[in-house]
Amino acid sequence: MNIHVVTLFPEILTGPLESSILKRAQEKGHLKVFLHNIRDFARDPHRTVDDYMFGGGAGMVMKPEPIFEAVEYAQECIRNAQSDAMKTPCDAPVILLSPQGKRFDQRQARTLATSPSIILICGRYEGIDARVETHLASMTLSIGDYVLTGGELPALVIIDALTRLLPGVLGSEDSAANDSFSDSLLEGPQYTRPSVYRDIPVPDILLSGNHRAISEWRHRQALIWTHSRRPDLLTKAQLSEDDRTLLRYLDEPGHQA
Ligand code: SAM
Repeated sequence: MNIHVVTLFPEILTGPLESSILKRAQEKGHLKVFLHNIRDFARDPHRTVDDYMFGGGAGMVMKPEPIFEAVEYAQECIRNAQSDAMKTPCDAPVILLSPQGKRFDQRQARTLATSPSIILICGRYEGIDARVETHLASMTLSIGDYVLTGGELPALVIIDALTRLLPGVLGSEDSAANDSFSDSLLEGPQYTRPSVYRDIPVPDILLSGNHRAISEWRHRQALIWTHSRRPDLLTKAQLSEDDRTLLRYLDEPGHQA
């Protein structure tokens, strides 16, 4: 997958991209990240990227011209990377990062991870001239209901979430399949050695060697955790009759899960 990031601060992304799974994914050829500095596309001698808000108001707004040109350059790079026979206009999603966007979630991550290329636009200051959203971006995504100083951390969040879904990136394909949200349930509790720590034992079932019983126990724990922490997810989950019986029991006052 190719990810192009249009940003005023490419250096914010380089550390995380040079570490751990993101680094390995690039080394193994599963991921390529291209950082485009918006300032390189500013035409005036001062390389101006922001300006005062029309109509008055506190703070500066990012100008449209360098962002349009940076994104168009990224689109050209994506098109040039296609083989000659395949060359078509670039249809890679152009994603504007904004606290006002649709909330990014695992379902969105799964969809985006199937795109060969995407372009992420990181804002700064008070935000970006609205024409970028209306006439350049194909979607606007938020990583949560809080305001950060810039779109670089949201871009990294999205890059990380997509990368772990790319085939071959994680050691075991199961790791992503069992993650929270994959089946609309949170993943249940996990334990490792020692089996007893400060007199706190891990559940006996996990030491039993009975894989079927362990798998059933994990599924029940996932239901119990989702019910107590994120009951909203249960409306989207595919539930068996046994699952529904357990959830009815958990809904009873004073139950012992
Ligand atoms: N004035 C804007 C508002 O109230 O919506 C906030 C601008 S914020 C300080 C600057 C930039 O950070 C935004 O343009 C966006 O790119 C990024 N950003 C901040 N919070 C974000 C979030 N929760 N999700 C995605 N991007 C965010």
